[in-house]
Amino acid sequence: MENLSFSTLCVHAGTRIDPITEGVNTPIYTSTSYPYLDTDDRPYPRYFNLPNQKSVIEKLIFLEGCDLDTSDGILFSSGMAAISTTLLGLLASGDHVLFQRGLYGGTTNFISGWLKKYGIEWSYPASNDPEAFEEAIRPTTRMVYIETPSNPLLGITDMESIARIAKRYRLISVIDSTFASPVNQNPRSLGIDIVIHSATKYLGGHSDISAGAIIAPKEVIKPIYRMALNLGGSLNPETCYLLERSMKTLAIRVEKQNQNTMEVALFLAQHPAVSRVFYPGLPSHPGHAIAKKQMRGFGGMLSFELRSADPVKFQKSLKLIRPSMSLGGVDSIICSPVMTSHRHLSREELDKEGITDKVLRLSVGIEDATDIIHDLKQALEK
Ligand SMILES: *Cc1c(COP(=O)(O)O)cnc(C)c1O
Repeated sequence: MENLSFSTLCVHAGTRIDPITEGVNTPIYTSTSYPYLDTDDRPYPRYFNLPNQKSVIEKLIFLEGCDLDTSDGILFSSGMAAISTTLLGLLASGDHVLFQRGLYGGTTNFISGWLKKYGIEWSYPASNDPEAFEEAIRPTTRMVYIETPSNPLLGITDMESIARIAKRYRLISVIDSTFASPVNQNPRSLGIDIVIHSATKYLGGHSDISAGAIIAPKEVIKPIYRMALNLGGSLNPETCYLLERSMKTLAIRVEKQNQNTMEVALFLAQHPAVSRVFYPGLPSHPGHAIAKKQMRGFGGMLSFELRSADPVKFQKSLKLIRPSMSLGGVDSIICSPVMTSHRHLSREELDKEGITDKVLRLSVGIEDATDIIHDLKQALEK
């Protein structure tokens, strides 16, 4: 598998060919009970080692540019299971974690709601610049955690610089790489230790399954695996199969989404009813230069701010793009962060991040870009 290109790995990596039929797809292995005599390999759902779980994780290991000799992964039933299990598995009372600013809402809730109970300390750097991270490191810091591109304004964090700082101070580096998907960036190749995905988004890609995953070096993953055995957030074989099937088309879906989103961003940037567009592919975006260096494509997510139109009325006048939560599917959907993912933040916190009630977040699908733009145009003109 090592020498195959990305699209080929999407289709073939991890596939378990059934010896009886030799059909092209991995069968759905439904058993939760397997032999234990004369073998150490004891598949069980909550051991995260069922054949369908392993198929998906192997595919993702290859898509993240890693190999089976040095890396391993765990497939979870949601992105939050992957995130919470990673933090609880690696951190102990007295440890300090440095989180980047502007994380996914569910992650922020977990940090502020639960870490204190376990005696884990945390802080946010003054900004997401590498120098600010370095300044915020304490003697007890054990982990640095980033998310790039970030939600909802598509902020870009310099992965290579963060990885270098983490190595210098012997910290574990973790990234939530959900927005990029493995098509657009491979953080492990830039030195980041642990890559997390909410597979509910691009990996699943059709807004119909919930899953999450981590990929990490073999020696780093052990305590996370031991925690996962106890917390038990494993994924059933049927959903594993759907995810494996979806990942076969990951490259063509996300490449189309990259193209569509660039076209939509250029259209919105010149429209008089739009005051700001946040897309790392636009040279005007503050993270453009770093995004260009560390990403192969700029992704399928963008945000924009309406100059004066009412955001609810605007969303209701869309005909093709549906006002809906979540992201990363083949259907274009739109949402207001202050009404969804960021509704728990105070006005002050929202102002600090620059998220107004006129900011809308668009997850661009694989429809024809002309139709998406036409829909936005007719709604902007209302
Ligand atoms: C959705 C999302 C998550 C959480 O994933 P779930 O599958 O909903 O648990 C984590 N991080 C990012 C960036 C997300 O978009």
